[in-house]
Amino acid sequence: MTLYKTHTCNGQILEICTIQGSTPGPKILITAGIHGCEYVGIETAKRLSMELSNNAHRVCGCITIIPCVNREAFYARVPALNPNDGLNINRVFPGSTSGSASHILAAMITQLQDESDFYIDMHGGDLHERLSPYVYVPGNCKPNITAIARDAASYVDVPVRVLSDALTGAYNSAAARGTPSILIERGHGGRWSEEEVNAYRKDIVSVLAHLGALHPSDRTDINQARKQREISALYVGAQADGLWYPSVTPDQNVSKGELLGVLHNFDGEEVQVVRAEKDGCVLYMTGTLFAPVGVDLIAY
Ligand SMILES: [Zn+2]
Repeated sequence: MTLYKTHTCNGQILEICTIQGSTPGPKILITAGIHGCEYVGIETAKRLSMELSNNAHRVCGCITIIPCVNREAFYARVPALNPNDGLNINRVFPGSTSGSASHILAAMITQLQDESDFYIDMHGGDLHERLSPYVYVPGNCKPNITAIARDAASYVDVPVRVLSDALTGAYNSAAARGTPSILIERGHGGRWSEEEVNAYRKDIVSVLAHLGALHPSDRTDINQARKQREISALYVGAQADGLWYPSVTPDQNVSKGELLGVLHNFDGEEVQVVRAEKDGCVLYMTGTLFAPVGVDLIAY
């Protein structure tokens, strides 16, 4: 049996799994694969589509899952971007049905977000990134939207929560338009494992239980709300093409002034020295030797 219905708009396709529960409850939207090489999120969303479709009696309300938004990138193994137009879908929200491929996909998701009570975007550190799991909550929206998101984020089993002031990301855009949302990062470097998928599944099921989207009898073996350190993130971009030598690792606490890494040219000359401008915790970094100009070398 096929789990997915094909939605099309101006030549773009989304494969969408909708699970209508047996009792009333919230409308939840879950997406993964906005970045096509973030496999832990994609595999977890695929498995959840199967698990919940086969157990719709466990669902209260309606859960909509899109396991791989950026299928072109997934099948071409292209990190970060949509090969159709060379854009990062997560930078063009809320999108437009009359724009290029990424804008159309974003617009299709925006419509689903607007129809939902809560939105979860599953990421997982791209092919070229090293990352330690954490969760984002939107800050550029009404305070009550941030508060609902923060409550839900506390059920994700990660130590750090980032309060974001961005607007163009899928979850930022949803929140700015009135739908509370979170973005979870788990996985990295084009790899995936059963342990990571199991942990990601538990995160999502725990958030769904907290939101009342699962039958009360199904709200066992879930994460308890945990205390998280809330930080604002600072992103350091590469000022030139270079070879990246980090001095720290993901999840490491860093102090203001500490050396985070150095970018060299091929002659071995320093072209950029990155020191921490504030105390923080390393969220992710470039994990490849080569870093092209403009890419995030490190976020902390
Ligand atoms: Zn991503």
